[in-house]
Amino acid sequence: MAPTAFDAERFRHEARAVVDWIADYWATLESRPVAPQVEPGSVRTALPAAAPERPEPLAAVLADLDRVILPGLVHWQHPAFFGYFPASTSGPSILGELLAAGLGVQGMLWATSPACTELETHCIEWLRHLLGLPERFAVAGAGGGVIQDSASSGALVAIVAARDRAMAMHPGRPLVAYCSVDAHSSIEKGLRIAGIDASRRRRIPVDAAGAMDVAALAAAVEADAAAGLHPFFVAATVGTTASGAIDPVPAIAAVAGRHGAWLHVDAAWAGTAAICPELRPPVVAGADHADSWGFNPHKWMLVNFDCHVLWVANRGPLVRALSMKPDYLRNAATESGAVIDYADWQVPLGRRFRALKLWMTLRMLGAAALRQHVRDHVAWAREFAACVAADPRFELLCEPSLALVCFALRSGDEASAALLGRVNAGGTAFLTHARVAGRYAIRLAIGGAITERRHVMAAWQTLADAAP
Ligand code: PLP
Repeated sequence: MAPTAFDAERFRHEARAVVDWIADYWATLESRPVAPQVEPGSVRTALPAAAPERPEPLAAVLADLDRVILPGLVHWQHPAFFGYFPASTSGPSILGELLAAGLGVQGMLWATSPACTELETHCIEWLRHLLGLPERFAVAGAGGGVIQDSASSGALVAIVAARDRAMAMHPGRPLVAYCSVDAHSSIEKGLRIAGIDASRRRRIPVDAAGAMDVAALAAAVEADAAAGLHPFFVAATVGTTASGAIDPVPAIAAVAGRHGAWLHVDAAWAGTAAICPELRPPVVAGADHADSWGFNPHKWMLVNFDCHVLWVANRGPLVRALSMKPDYLRNAATESGAVIDYADWQVPLGRRFRALKLWMTLRMLGAAALRQHVRDHVAWAREFAACVAADPRFELLCEPSLALVCFALRSGDEASAALLGRVNAGGTAFLTHARVAGRYAIRLAIGGAITERRHVMAAWQTLADAAP
């Protein structure tokens, strides 16, 4: 036997021990502080300087996981984790992840693992129907969807496709891109990577709630076009990171459409809400005019990181921009034109079997439970917001957006920042901050798999008790 081959019986036994460890972790999560108080370097000093020469037993590794690693983690799956946006997970998703690792296939080409590609295409169509996204993204037409690692990668490939399309249509015309000042930093990063320098990146102002000012966008676009530049890319956000604001996508689409600009919709967090018909209209508004639309099942839809889904209305520009077919990847299925090679839709060549965890989450939880998960969180966010509004020391900085509430102490930014620091140091809840309408905002983002109403209410009580 090869020295690295792992005995099947041992694997069976130890995999069960690891699953037990995870189940125990989940069961005891609530008793842990949500975020650690650790000094930089403290984790590394507890680890040996060199890798072991001889094999160590699983028990020794798990002991170190408990002793060294766990105390140095922010527990993102803790029911009182309300920071950033959720990175939720679930039992079925974890099992799908395990199966993907166990199968260990590469799905860059249809030919390298046909079922890997076809399950992805199929699940993405299921999702498109669940979210109520338009036919223009259907793979049966000119469009289609793909799983990317992150919303950042989704935006990057959309930008690259838009850039190449624009350069082919208007050779030599300098390209200009637009997004609001509250768009996620990944848009600007993607533009930078794609070679759109700062002088060609326009940040459009937002209204008091954080949504893009379309009149300002139209003015900027008209001025650039009149100056001989080519407005080639507009990013709209559905659910901004700071306040959950929803840009007016239909009006933005009209401006972009007048100049043939590519419209990308970043619904990374809020997109999941579209599975609930009553929450859907503002989330998918304007999607029927978008060139690309993406959301993260790894945020609020209980599929563990990483899983971003990007749809395009026309896959042609994407594939033309990203397809590389060296001799060693040529095969009859690709040549036939009858298959999808998802490597042509992303930056890396290799790709994991991420569709498995999406498939297992959708099948083993079911759409009805996923909708209830979203509805509960939206309802609890409203209850939490009502508590904030009823306390004279606090104020809401904008209306709650879905499951996100942004609020502050009336006594000012410093007091709000100090309150957040005290609450997080206490370990019973974890929230983060952003700037909303120029103010320091404390954000409560509900989205955890095991979060219950009582955790949200307890977080409010902790804040109220710690507030001056
Ligand atoms: N877009 C928005 C609106 C976000 O809130 C985030 C992250 O929170 C991202 C994009 C980036 O997501 P990812 O980590 O998947 O790149």
